[in-house]
Amino acid sequence: MELLKQRILKDGSVKEGGILKVDSFLNHQIDIKLLNEIGKEFKKRFDGKKIEKILTIESSGIAIACISAQYFNVPVVFAKKSMSLNLGKDVYTSKVVSFTKNKTYNIYVCKKYIKKDEKILIIDDFLARGQAALGLLDIINQAGAVLSGIGIVIEKEFQKGRRVLEEKGAHIESLAIVKSMEDGQVVFR
Ligand code: 5GP
Repeated sequence: MELLKQRILKDGSVKEGGILKVDSFLNHQIDIKLLNEIGKEFKKRFDGKKIEKILTIESSGIAIACISAQYFNVPVVFAKKSMSLNLGKDVYTSKVVSFTKNKTYNIYVCKKYIKKDEKILIIDDFLARGQAALGLLDIINQAGAVLSGIGIVIEKEFQKGRRVLEEKGAHIESLAIVKSMEDGQVVFR
């Protein structure tokens, strides 16, 4: 997606440890016009696939999933990263190893929001080692729901998350695929 790639080159910055910072338009301040284009592009990429719900993970995935959901006309569910009394006891849970925080955390989704046989599209901001998406896929499997695909805004190809997910049979669409980030220089595939 050319618009997105140009924006990454203009406003993104490369941090230590293979982190790409896109806080000024995606992760902290959010450019809604760009998000609308991202939503339209996901709709185009998954055209013809049966999608009944979008599943993402808090917090950065939520805005992207919500704007995209308007084009799919489906609800969004986001996995929570902490257990609260509001969630009740009937939850699916999975473990995720965080790429950016270098720690393991649990994610939780209320059982009533993912139904057996429901066709689910996972959406997230980044794909690095694939652990967040793997945790979401685990929850989909626990529910007996069906993965329709995984939509990623920025994939860092060199961190190999795609392979982990494709081994599970996932169809992945990434809108910008970063081949390398050496010497602070973002190079797309
Ligand atoms: P993975 O689980 O695929 O290893 O990493 C994906 C998750 O980590 C995403 O949900 C995203 O929030 C975070 N993440 C991974 N790499 C980056 C990055 O380069 N920049 C930012 N801002 N977040 C990242």
